[in-house]
Parts: sequence; structure tokens; C-alpha cells
Amino acid sequence: MKQLPSKFESREALTELIAETFESVLIEGHRQPSPIHGQVLSEAELADCIQPAAYARTRNFYDGAVSRLSPFVRQGIVDRKTLASIALAGGAKPAEKFIQELLWGEFWQHVAEARPSGLWQDAEPYKTGFLASEYALELPQDIATGTTPNACLNHFIRDLQETGYVHNHARMYLAAYVVHFRRIRWQAGAAWFLAHLLDGDAAANNYSWQWVASTFGSKPYIFNLENVEKYCGNQVDCRPETNPELDASYDVLSARLFPARAL
Ligand SMILES: Cc1cc2nc3c(=O)[nH]c(=O)nc-3n(C[C@H](O)[C@H](O)[C@H](O)COP(=O)(O)OP(=O)(O)OC[C@H]3O[C@@H](n4cnc5c(N)ncnc54)[C@H](O)[C@@H]3O)c2cc1C
Repeated sequence: MKQLPSKFESREALTELIAETFESVLIEGHRQPSPIHGQVLSEAELADCIQPAAYARTRNFYDGAVSRLSPFVRQGIVDRKTLASIALAGGAKPAEKFIQELLWGEFWQHVAEARPSGLWQDAEPYKTGFLASEYALELPQDIATGTTPNACLNHFIRDLQETGYVHNHARMYLAAYVVHFRRIRWQAGAAWFLAHLLDGDAAANNYSWQWVASTFGSKPYIFNLENVEKYCGNQVDCRPETNPELDASYDVLSARLFPARAL
């Protein structure tokens, strides 16, 4: 087995070696590393990332005051307890929402420990009117390469593949698109996310996919272009003509995506 060096003169030298060594698995055109740098963050730097009051108001917006700390939590650079105590320094009330979201991470860990089979198997049947066997097993090429008919989704796919970080709302849109608009099994999408996310964690990721899919929840999660426009429109192309599959009301989409459910 080839021994790879562990010390490098520069980040560029590391990047070059990785690109050369893993040439065959690199997605075409993606030779650059994520702009997110793994580094130990001081308490002051962590505090800069956490703005509890703004977080509570804006966290669902693509440019909202989310911390973007999940890669650091996932890689063990910082723990959730430390983040909670930094958030609480400004008072309990404003910290409430941030701490609730932090606790989702704990919750998914406990769910995965209690139900390890749910990491890759459907916890329950789909509530979409379709059987699991009616969902495709493989991720289509246009999704894997970020060339779907919908510009906003291609934007989020670029985030995934070029940075390894995707905003929570965009993760929900992508998961719903894969499972409900394209009728692909959630497992294919979950594996795709885990291959790219710097915070990739089977418990949070796979159970979130199951929640969107409705195999771990009471109904499927869907979205439409109006919703993406509201939360991401100032940063992402949300024009109807460049997002043709998403431009419809919830009633129209529900009838189109889940015809048997409506009966
Ligand atoms: C389909 C899908 C897949 C996901 N996959 C992952 C994954 O692989 N790893 C992962 O850590 N999170 C995952 N999440 C949850 C969530 O999207 C990310 O934790 C969040 O976007 C990370 O960004 P942030 O650090 O800016 O979060 P913030 O909103 O700033 O939250 C602070 C911290 O709380 C935790 N957190 C917040 N929301 C959640 C949540 N819903 N579930 C679990 N922890 C949360 C994270 O550690 C995060 O760093 C997924 C969500 C969906 C819908």
C-alpha cells in the first residue's frame, strides 16, 4: 500500500497531491478544496460565529445568521456543550432557538443508537402513496453533476460539491427534490450527501433524509419555487423560467407528486 506524506509545505501542495492521488474519483472540474479550513477556533472566534438573537430571526434564510460550525462539531474540534455555553452568555431567552437546534444533533445520535437499523433501512413505509419498490435506487446523473433543469437546485448542489457545506433549508430542498420530485430512494441521496458534506454524520443526515421522505415522519416534506424565492431569492437564481419543475402551488405539486395520496 502506498504511504502518503502527512506534512506539506503549503496547502497548495496538499491539494495537488490529493488531486493527483484521487484523480479517478474527482468530479470533473472540481479540483479545488473546500474554502472551509480546518483549524482550532478560539473562544472569541466561536463567539463571532454565534449570534443567538439574529439566529432566531433569520436562520431559515440562505444568508441568515447561522453559525456554519457543523464541520467543526463533526470533526471534534469543538463540542456542542461549549457552543451552548457561548450562546447562553448573552442570556437564556435569545439563546433558546440556537440551543434547540444544537439539541437536534444530540437527538439524532440517540435515535440512531436506539434504532441503528434506521440508518440505512426505512423506519416505516412511505406516506406518499408509493411503495418503496416504486422508487429508483440510483441517483440520476443530472443530480450528481448539478445539471438538473432547476437553477436554484444546481446552485445548492455546487455548494455541496465545492464547499462541503449546505444551508439547512437547502438540504431540505435537495432531499425533497431527490425523493419526491424524482422518486429516488432516500438512501441514494443520503449516501450522496455523506460523500461530500464536511459535517457528514450518518445519524443526523440519514434520519433527516428519512424525515423528508416520510419514512420517519407522518407526511412527506415538499417545497415550491415561491418558498425558495422567499428564503434564498436575493442570492440564488429563482426565476420561473430557469426553475420549471418547481414553479407551482402546493396543491398542484401535491396532486402531481402524490396522485394516489389524494384519492
Ligand atoms: C437532508 C439533511 C441532511 C443533514 N445532514 C447533516 C449531517 O450530515 N450532519 C449534520 O451535522 N447535520 C446535518 N443536517 C442538519 C443541519 O442541516 C446541519 O446541522 C446544519 O445545516 C449545519 O449548519 P450550521 O453549523 O450553520 O448550523 P446552525 O444552524 O448554526 O446550528 C448550530 C449547530 O447545531 C447543530 N444542528 C443544527 N441544526 C441541526 C439539525 N437539524 N440536526 C442536527 N444538528 C443540527 C449542528 O451541530 C450545528 O453546527 C442535515 C439536515 C438535512 C435536512
